[in-house]
Amino acid sequence: MNTVSIVVPCYNESEVIAATHGELDRCLGASPDFNFEFIYVDDGSRDGTASILRDIRKRDPRVKLVRFSRNFGHQAAVSAGIDHAFGDAVAIMDADLQDPPQVLLEMLQKWREGFEVVYGVRRNRKESLFKRACYRLFYRIWQRMADIEVPVDSGDFCVMDRQVADVLRSLPENGRFLRGLRAWAGFRQCGHPYERAARHAGEPKYSFVRLVRLAASGIFNFSDVPLRFISLAGFVTSALAIMGGILLLLQRLFNIHIFGYTPQDMPGYTSVFLALQFFSGIQLLSLGIIGEYVARMYGEIKRRPVYVVAERLGLPSVRQQIRTDEHDQTPTVSERPRVASN
Ligand code: UDP
Ligand code: MG
Repeated sequence: MNTVSIVVPCYNESEVIAATHGELDRCLGASPDFNFEFIYVDDGSRDGTASILRDIRKRDPRVKLVRFSRNFGHQAAVSAGIDHAFGDAVAIMDADLQDPPQVLLEMLQKWREGFEVVYGVRRNRKESLFKRACYRLFYRIWQRMADIEVPVDSGDFCVMDRQVADVLRSLPENGRFLRGLRAWAGFRQCGHPYERAARHAGEPKYSFVRLVRLAASGIFNFSDVPLRFISLAGFVTSALAIMGGILLLLQRLFNIHIFGYTPQDMPGYTSVFLALQFFSGIQLLSLGIIGEYVARMYGEIKRRPVYVVAERLGLPSVRQQIRTDEHDQTPTVSERPRVASN
């Protein structure tokens, strides 16, 4: 029988987490085909989520808990779940029942048929029009810019094979944008359309600013188009400036009137002002884009771990992820004993 690890990142989910586990148990628990382990990653919640999870674990030993020392963010929580998972397949889902457990069973069937990655594709979202429009826009831009083939409208909800989970664990980068890294990993991937439900209870934990930051990771970690865009913009504006210069020279030499003026009597204020604004705009934008990449490089070279664990329940203590070997710079997968202890 195959073991499947279900990874559930939780941040202040006390209102919903018991219901979520109940639902998971009801839908999956009876499945004769799979053994399940449930890895809840408490991402520094302040509302007692961890103690609810400890209680659930007392009743259900399949439940494992990783608790972070503070809030490290959703992507870090999912990474930790993958790092601690033992299953032949690893599934990732939200704690708020937006990703229905029933759909997970269908996805697991596809995994059994031989797909190494089965990701959920949101057929419709029960979210505000504005948020939906932003998501749509982001995925279209990302698809055009990214240097990998990326699935549109798919989030982190997925089932992946042990091989893919191991690839993700071995990746050295700190900037974890998992749906991108998952696509990068390759193998046979397939999308599974589903209706994304509304949040069961509680507030969304992603603020708009955090969503924008996540979207920026998608673009800047997977594309150098923005950098190339700077060269292009620089090229176009320089070309325009040279052409303008030539025109001005000709106008001056032949004393041509444009809008009733020649360069001699042109007040010039408007044109200088507009040019100044335009070029300083381009420069600031370019600096900003370069800054994005520099900041990301800075983040990577600090080589801090993606998360810090304060408590593990039901999991052997794994060596903290060491993403690169100090001597030969080749990526290593940290050793992990493949036996579960309670
Ligand atoms: N989450 C997390 N850490 C955070 C923010 C969110 O672990 O800093 C979890 C959260 O508990 C949920 C999942 O990530 O299980 C997705 O968050 P949310 O439902 O707020 O996002 P949305 O579904 O609105 O995109
Ligand atoms: Mg949600």
